[in-house]
Amino acid sequence: MPRVSCSIIQPQCSRCQACVEACPELFAWDEELGEVVVREDCADAPDLAKAVAWCPHDCIEVHDPDTP
Ligand code: SF4
Repeated sequence: MPRVSCSIIQPQCSRCQACVEACPELFAWDEELGEVVVREDCADAPDLAKAVAWCPHDCIEVHDPDTP
């Protein structure tokens, strides 16, 4: 069964890391890249909605396979 996944619209992201604080199971700060990355193995993290709500720039895109 396809799972919900998400990605970050990097050009919109201010690197505030609120999403990392809200949902560390799913988002992580990558020192080398200097940006937030999504951990692919945790796509159904319970705090995803909180991270989306906390993002000040609406740059977390959620891909729900059940929503066309
Ligand atoms: S909360 Fe939004 S703006 Fe802040 S680092 Fe995460 S994705 Fe970027």
